[in-house]
Amino acid sequence: MSAVKNILIVGGGTAGWLCAAFLAKQLGSKHSHGIQIRLVESPEIGIIGVGEGSFPSIRGTLAAIGIDEAQFVRECQATFKQGIRFDHWLHEPHHSKSQQDSARHYFHPFNQPSQRQGTPELLPYWLQGIAPKGMPFAQAVSMQKRIADAYRAPKRSSDGDFLGPMNYAYHFDAALFAKLLAKHAKNLGVQHLLGNVHRVELDREGAIDAVHTHEQGALKADLYIDCTGFRARLIGQALQSEFHSVSDTLFVDRALAIQVPYPHAQTPIASYTISTAQEAGWIWDIGLQDRRGVGYVYSSRHTDQACAERVLRDYLQDEAVEFKPRLLELQLGYRPRPWIKNCVAIGLSGGFLEPLEASGIGLVEAATYLLAYLFPFNGEFDLCAQHFNHHMSQRYERIVDFIKLHYCISQRRDHRFWIDNADIATIPSSLRDKLALWKHRPPHRLDFNSDLEMYPTSSWQYVLYGMHYPTQLHPSAIDANKLVLAEQEFAGIAAMSERAVADLPDHRQYIQFLCEKA
Ligand code: FAD
Repeated sequence: MSAVKNILIVGGGTAGWLCAAFLAKQLGSKHSHGIQIRLVESPEIGIIGVGEGSFPSIRGTLAAIGIDEAQFVRECQATFKQGIRFDHWLHEPHHSKSQQDSARHYFHPFNQPSQRQGTPELLPYWLQGIAPKGMPFAQAVSMQKRIADAYRAPKRSSDGDFLGPMNYAYHFDAALFAKLLAKHAKNLGVQHLLGNVHRVELDREGAIDAVHTHEQGALKADLYIDCTGFRARLIGQALQSEFHSVSDTLFVDRALAIQVPYPHAQTPIASYTISTAQEAGWIWDIGLQDRRGVGYVYSSRHTDQACAERVLRDYLQDEAVEFKPRLLELQLGYRPRPWIKNCVAIGLSGGFLEPLEASGIGLVEAATYLLAYLFPFNGEFDLCAQHFNHHMSQRYERIVDFIKLHYCISQRRDHRFWIDNADIATIPSSLRDKLALWKHRPPHRLDFNSDLEMYPTSSWQYVLYGMHYPTQLHPSAIDANKLVLAEQEFAGIAAMSERAVADLPDHRQYIQFLCEKA
């Protein structure tokens, strides 16, 4: 066992460069007598280049790496993301025509439900019908949907009447993000090599001894990080780490992605992802500065590529007719052992769950923090690997439950895809147990282990009640003495929303302001 003095990251997508920049910042680079970090990427194999939605954790990561928000917005075509709007997830479109808005769509905001000191938790009161009649949960407890619907940015540049920013993440161009991370990581001392790994040499114990490239010859390191995407060149092909497929639970396995220009330069930009349920999956619609990114994620067991393209074209109507969508094949699942001996897989090589709640880059962030925290300075890999593998597997399992929740409580039965999704045999027992508990009381933070969850309790609540989950709360679950306080709080949130909409800048204008900031 000898101390880790150098790291070789293989792969230069978002995962590789994010990991490189974060580790360089945390561990120091060779310039500061820290650990040497090199990143080798294939000059022939491109990066996946999709992944335009993020989770609020990205802000902490950018800050930790030292990337300033204005630079990020300027260089990555970034816009703000305040949540996700889910259209037609509860019922198919024709079913909802005569129905109110809450049957057509619901919102998953990033803001937690309002809970000011001295006021009760609002959810039980909402469940008992105390909020203004028919008001959906997300709108009753948070201002964010109204702000986003009005095309407002989640914050302003100077102090005004409005008291504080909304929680937010970003939409961005994934290829530009990888470039910015690369520039930053190189400034932090990461050495960049071009080379196609064609052979991985193992030592007698089964650890990696060297990776062989045509361009750079053999490359040796104390620790190897596999960021080679779905190819999993080191962890899968060389070390044979098992891949645990979740395709019996989550059915989508293809995506048709297309870029759609705006009709004119000042077209308003939505500050949420729009996710529209379709016959065999769903379509994402993400507004960047100069274009939208749109893609149909579908199950090839429930439709074929020609039908999928027709669905995507119907959604786009006469937009982007001259562009051809790009087909991507997805492998949904994860490796229960992403860390074996001296090799750690981060990014798509470690696992991928579909993009419905933008978990991809969040998982890269989680794995990178964990690696930095557990870093095996003394070359003692096994205990670190055990901890890392346990933590990441648990994290994946919880995300699987959260994503499946969106499908399995839908009332859509218009296509086989939706009927199969509601089949109890396809729902993990961990999720079935939660749903059984939540028949009588709403999700509470004690239902979760926050260190292992990507999504906070409120995310589960927003999805569950956006989808009209029928929790029958016992009347004694609310305090009758606090009814008036709860009513006042609901009214206060509605009034405050009006003020926030008036106070906050237009989303596109605020982006322009950030881009022009020196
Ligand atoms: P890649 O981008 O595939 O990079 C792989 C790298 O490895 C490349 O540089 C390649 O050259 C290199 N490489 C491969 N083989 C070799 C070799 N033999 N030798 C040397 N180098 C090699 N995530 C989100 O957070 N939000 C989203 O909204 C989202 N949407 C998505 C939509 C779709 C359809 C898909 C498929 C993914 C989505 N993701 C999303 C996931 C996200 O795109 C990825 O998590 C992220 O881009 C990280 O990819 P990566 O770096 O692991 O792999």
